[in-house]
Amino acid sequence: MHKPFFFRLLFLFFSIVAVAQAPKKPTASEIYHDLQKLNFVGSALYIAAHPDDENTRLISYLVNDVHANTAYLSITRGDGGQNLVGPELRELLGVIRTQELLEARKIDGGHQFFTRANDFGYSKNPEETFEFWTKNEVLGDVVMTIRKFRPDIIVNRFDHRSPGSTHGHHTASAMLSLEAFDMADDASKFPKSAAEYGVWKPQRLFFNTSWWFYGSQEKFEKADKSQMVSVETGNYFPALGLSNGEIASLSRSMHKSQGFGSTGSRGSETEYLELLKGNKPSDNNLFEGINTTWSRLEGGKEIGAILNPLEANFNFKNPSEMLPQLLKAYPLVANLKDTHWRKIKLKQLKQLILDCGGIFIEAVSEANSINPNENFKVTVEAVNRGNADVVLQSVKNSEDKMLWNESTVLPFNEDKKLEITVNSGVHNPKYSSPYWLNEKGSVGMYVAPEALIGLPETPALEQLTFELQFGNVTIPFTKDIIYKFNDPVKGEVYRPLEVLPEVTASIPEKVLIFANNEAETVSVIVRAGKDSISGTISLQHPEGWQVAPSQQTFQLDRNGETKTFTFTVTPPSGQSEGFLKPIVNAEGRIFDRELVTIDYEHIPYQSVLLPSEAKVAKIDIQKKGQKIGYINGAGDAIPESLKQIGYSVTTIDPSNISAENLQNFDAIVVGIRAYNTVPELAFAQPALNKYVENGGTLIVQYNTSRGLVTENLAPYELKLSRDRVTDEFSEVKILAPENPILNTPNKITQKDFEGWVQERGLYFPDEWAKEFTPILGMRDKGEKMTKGSLLVAKYGKGYYIYTGLSFFRELPAGVPGAYRLFANMLSIGK
Ligand SMILES: [Zn+2]
Repeated sequence: MHKPFFFRLLFLFFSIVAVAQAPKKPTASEIYHDLQKLNFVGSALYIAAHPDDENTRLISYLVNDVHANTAYLSITRGDGGQNLVGPELRELLGVIRTQELLEARKIDGGHQFFTRANDFGYSKNPEETFEFWTKNEVLGDVVMTIRKFRPDIIVNRFDHRSPGSTHGHHTASAMLSLEAFDMADDASKFPKSAAEYGVWKPQRLFFNTSWWFYGSQEKFEKADKSQMVSVETGNYFPALGLSNGEIASLSRSMHKSQGFGSTGSRGSETEYLELLKGNKPSDNNLFEGINTTWSRLEGGKEIGAILNPLEANFNFKNPSEMLPQLLKAYPLVANLKDTHWRKIKLKQLKQLILDCGGIFIEAVSEANSINPNENFKVTVEAVNRGNADVVLQSVKNSEDKMLWNESTVLPFNEDKKLEITVNSGVHNPKYSSPYWLNEKGSVGMYVAPEALIGLPETPALEQLTFELQFGNVTIPFTKDIIYKFNDPVKGEVYRPLEVLPEVTASIPEKVLIFANNEAETVSVIVRAGKDSISGTISLQHPEGWQVAPSQQTFQLDRNGETKTFTFTVTPPSGQSEGFLKPIVNAEGRIFDRELVTIDYEHIPYQSVLLPSEAKVAKIDIQKKGQKIGYINGAGDAIPESLKQIGYSVTTIDPSNISAENLQNFDAIVVGIRAYNTVPELAFAQPALNKYVENGGTLIVQYNTSRGLVTENLAPYELKLSRDRVTDEFSEVKILAPENPILNTPNKITQKDFEGWVQERGLYFPDEWAKEFTPILGMRDKGEKMTKGSLLVAKYGKGYYIYTGLSFFRELPAGVPGAYRLFANMLSIGK
């Protein structure tokens, strides 16, 4: 959860359905808007930490009002956030949020970049952040992005001077930007990217401040604004039929996984930018003193003389009238000495030529996915709906190999279709899965091939290039090959054409806990990535574990067909952890990937290939009691985890809590944030306390300190705080070594706190009645010891336990020590 507080105040939930994957077919006034962008020669880069940190109002202003070439550099892909639209978390959530950012940029018109940093979870300050991010790599990625994108101005979302006041990633993003600003023009710093893109000196660096950073509107009004520039971001764009605030909200509403639906705003609005580096503009123009016209470029004057008048004389009834002028400018743009701007302006100009000319070209694959080095059928559709003479000269593949060269005139409004056979070849990367997930990285960093670093996604592997001839000008247009089908409800549905392996395999259960020496059955699903494939499937396992049979044969007939195989897995006698990995041997090769698909309407369909594996843990665990009652909170997987170690778990209806209904349970466990999300718990405490008094065990997991349905969540006084320990490696001090919770039935030692994931715990109580015994002490670096992570109190004949330890993360991750401690909590008093 990284939403700045002020966004939560300002925006209500709002949702739009977008079939965003269909290609844009602009109207005459949108073409006019694109022409305005073509005639602006300047760039702006916005920098923050997560998808959804970016101020879409300012980005939209820069693109649609200033018409600058604008990009957002998000340091991470937001893997550590929550997910309001589905079950994907961590890396798969990062895939969704990457695509949400790309959809947001399609709406506001910006570009998108990332670094290799992984959003590993919350950190309290940048120092903690840089313990996980390899600073030199992330900084190098920021420097590389500046050299590649060449922004005239850079805008930071966060303040680099206030570590500890917000998420450590936020402050870190601003600090990295500041450092990179000074380094980008020094060829001795990160020489590889200097050699690749040249060095670059941006003119100005701003901090996109607001009242929120000052604590209140009132304080902000009184603040010294001598180093600030204010810009009007509430303008209305008649060519688009939208105000800047309305575009910003449509863009922001793409962050659906974060629940950031946003309602559009109209009327005047001001954004403030504090100058950090460079000279202060003399007016409210962020680009003041920077030449952003065609004359900025050598050979640009002549181009401007052709293209600038087109804006003034634009014919909204017939944009194709300006096609001859665009074609006249084309060779001049194609010959620009400045390779950076040549690339950008050629792309914009070529799109305008197609749009003005009313020319539609599309390449549609017959199959939705293909394998490397496979022949596949593509239908090319070309139609000329304007009044220019156009000849389709040839079609080439991604390797520039000629596939068709029968030069044919495209007569007015005659739909032409060609069937072409394409060979997919072998690409690098080999498959169209997110490139940053191909190899396992560290907690804080992804691994990426040099050439792809910074890119938002793996580029389409299969493209076709069409050469169109307009009089004596021939222009190549490159298009991704896509797949599409008709859905009876949605209509035309577009999907990326994906290059995938011939076969994949997966273990659906990602963590398997063995609480005793008994063998368990493990399912493996084999999926065909082509028609007719056969081979063998086996399970690689850790030493000491046994798997039977050692291999099985399979035969699948259709692409997409799956078959489930079962193996018997026997754990070793002692405690042991490791991974089971399905290995497929087919067509003389080894396949060890699993395929995960992500299908939501607001983003393109995603196929993600991951190393196929499941964690197995044999835990030395003793337990007492058997029947557990579970009161669900905001949602966690604790019940499934407890079932894995042999407990029977019953869900309790919160409106039906009474001492009588609970009396047969050995323990009652309350799910995470239940006292924040379950209104019935405001009245249930007397019954829960009575159950404890009669000899029951009540375990309450973490709640946030704000927004409780009742302050009364224990039989004794207990006050929650915001104390949290985010370092999962932090030392744990045992405060009550004799307490039964650390001794029976499992002896808990330091070893049980090894291998924890993401954090120790959160929202620990900081005040409690003397009846409570604090069991564990822990702290983050440089902070004072917290003692409220695990509190135990005897009440009547039973026990009340409050714990902010992150069992909801540790048990699903298969952390043995967390299981052993949880079993002791459930067993206390038995
Ligand atoms: Zn954030």
